[in-house]
Amino acid sequence: MDFNLEKVDIDYDCRGCGKHVKYLVMWPKSMERPTLELCDDCAKLNAERQNREEEIAILRMRIADADVPESFRTWKKELGNQKLVKQVLDAAGQNFYLCGKFGVGKTSCCCFALKRELAKLENLTAKFIFWPEFAEAVRGGTDTKRELMQLQRTISAADIVMIDDIGAGGGISVAVGTELIKIINDVYNSNRRRRIWLTSNLPLNLLMEKFEDTDTAERIIGRFRRMKADKFLTELTA
Ligand SMILES: [Zn+2]
Repeated sequence: MDFNLEKVDIDYDCRGCGKHVKYLVMWPKSMERPTLELCDDCAKLNAERQNREEEIAILRMRIADADVPESFRTWKKELGNQKLVKQVLDAAGQNFYLCGKFGVGKTSCCCFALKRELAKLENLTAKFIFWPEFAEAVRGGTDTKRELMQLQRTISAADIVMIDDIGAGGGISVAVGTELIKIINDVYNSNRRRRIWLTSNLPLNLLMEKFEDTDTAERIIGRFRRMKADKFLTELTA
């Protein structure tokens, strides 16, 4: 290899802005000449764009890892419920119970807020739970016990647990209610490190009527009351 330097004429038009670039460099004789296509300014902008794209790709992966359904991963601003998304973003630092009719955009707003929270902290994790599926997984019994355990682990590892459409479907059995209590208690005992976000078509009092045993319902109400008194739970209406 010939490492002796020679003068090389750099002379090109920037592919980005068309600026003419011309200077001399000392370049090792045996090394391939640099191929330059962008001026310094355009190269910098290009690198910044690549970084941004990479960040977006990572965020996309994290939102998928959180099991957010595909249709809720992208926020369409022009179609979104602006008033509601503001409410949700304001409450996103805490726990909340969001009640509203079907179709007002509860899930979209919450998923958008979830994405925002993930973007803020790169080591934050989240788990999206669709209530009817969760209830089904708990009901599944022994043959899905391993899957249920896996699900429980994923939930307890998540910083933000979002339960979508809680109360949808039939009555809430003792087993399902007990699982829910566990999740709420874990969040409550995490010293504000973790959060739970709930969406429902039902106001809280009607949700409680869905529990097959009043004991579970009362324990949940009690927890929620404490969280509200601690100013760590907001009730939102869409
Ligand atoms: Zn340029």
